[in-house]
Amino acid sequence: MAFDIYKLVRPHLLQLKPYASARSEFSGSAKVWLDANENAYGTPGRTINNAFHRYPDPYQLSLKERISEIKNIPTDHIFLGNGSDEAIDLLIKVFCLPGTDNIISLPPTFGMYEVAAAVNDVEVKTASLTDDYQIDQEKVENAIDKNTKIIFFCSPNNPTGNLLATDDILYFLENFSGLVVVDEAYIDFTNQPSFLNKLNDFPNLVVLQTFSKAWGMAALRLGAAYASPEILAFLNKIKLPYNVSTLTQQTALEILQNTEQYNSYIAAIKTQRQWLVEQLNSLGIALKIHPADANFMLVKFTDAASVYQFLVDQGVIVRNRSSVHLCEGGLRITVGTEKENQLLIDTFKRYKPTSKSLTSQQNY
Ligand SMILES: *Cc1c(COP(=O)(O)O)cnc(C)c1O
Repeated sequence: MAFDIYKLVRPHLLQLKPYASARSEFSGSAKVWLDANENAYGTPGRTINNAFHRYPDPYQLSLKERISEIKNIPTDHIFLGNGSDEAIDLLIKVFCLPGTDNIISLPPTFGMYEVAAAVNDVEVKTASLTDDYQIDQEKVENAIDKNTKIIFFCSPNNPTGNLLATDDILYFLENFSGLVVVDEAYIDFTNQPSFLNKLNDFPNLVVLQTFSKAWGMAALRLGAAYASPEILAFLNKIKLPYNVSTLTQQTALEILQNTEQYNSYIAAIKTQRQWLVEQLNSLGIALKIHPADANFMLVKFTDAASVYQFLVDQGVIVRNRSSVHLCEGGLRITVGTEKENQLLIDTFKRYKPTSKSLTSQQNY
C-alpha cells in the first residue's frame, strides 16, 4: 500500500501559511503579557486567579500530557478539538477537494460523516453494512474510486451498538491508500483493544475518540483524533487558533484525574446494560434486541412508532431510529442509571400493544 500524505492532502494546503496567533508565536514564561490585546485587569466579577482574560493554549499541551499518560500515546500523536465532530470536519477539509473528491460512509451509521462532507461540498459514497451490521468488504471496495480520500468506520457503531470485525478494518488499513478513520466514540464500553495500538503500523490510520460519552463531558466539548504527527500537522494548520477553551482544558484536566470513578461508572453502565437486555427479553415485547457493545442498544419492535409515542407520553425519551436504513422498527435506548432503567422497564410493563401491532407480530 502506497500511502503518501503529501499526495493526499489538498494541494493548496501544502503551501498555506496558518494564522499566527499571539500565543502560538510566543508561549514561554514572561513578566508581562502585552501581546494579545487581552484585558490585563481581568474578568468582571472574577478574582484575578479565576479570571478568563487570557487566551487559551492553542495546542492544549497540559491536557495532552495527561491524555498521553492515560492512553499511552505520545502527545504529538494527539489532536484535540471541539468534540470529535470538529476532527471529522477538519479531516474532510484537509483531504477532500470540494466537488471532486469523495468519502465513504457505511450506513446505518453516525450521521456527522455525511453532513460534514455535504457542508464541504464533498460527495458521500455509501456502502451499506450487512444485515448483521458488519462491513460488506465487496460493497466498500466497489465504492472506492480514484477520488476516494477517506473511509469512515464507526466501531462500536452508532446507532446499531455493535463492534465491527477488526479483520475487516485491518483489510482496508492494509489495502486502501487513502485515510482509514476508525471512530471509537464508544470504545470504553467494550472489552476490545482500541485501534490506538495500531497507529505505528498504519500511517493511514486516524482514530477518533471523544470525552463526551464514557468520560461524561458532553457539555465541555472535547474530542480527540489520534494519528501520525504528519497528518495532525495539517489538522493543526487549518483549525481555528483557539479551538478548545480554557474552561474546557482546565476542567477536563481536573476530571481526568478521577480514573477510579470513571472505571466504576463504566462497570455500572455495563452491568446495567446487561440488566436491561435481560429485562427487555423477559418482557417479550421486542422483536429483536441487538447485541450492545456501547452504552446504548438498538431494540426493534413491530410497532415502534406507537411504543415510541407511549414512552414520550410517559416522559421517557428514547431515540426513534425506525426510519433509518436497516434499522426499521428500531428504537435506540441509552443505558441510564439503575433508577432510570427501572423506570423504563416499569413503563414498558404498562404498554399495551395495539391490536394492529398484535396482528402484525403474528406475521413475524
Ligand atoms: C457522540 C459521537 C461522536 C462525537 O461526539 P462529540 O461530542 O462531538 O465528541 C462521534 N462519533 C460517534 C459515533 C458518536 O456517537
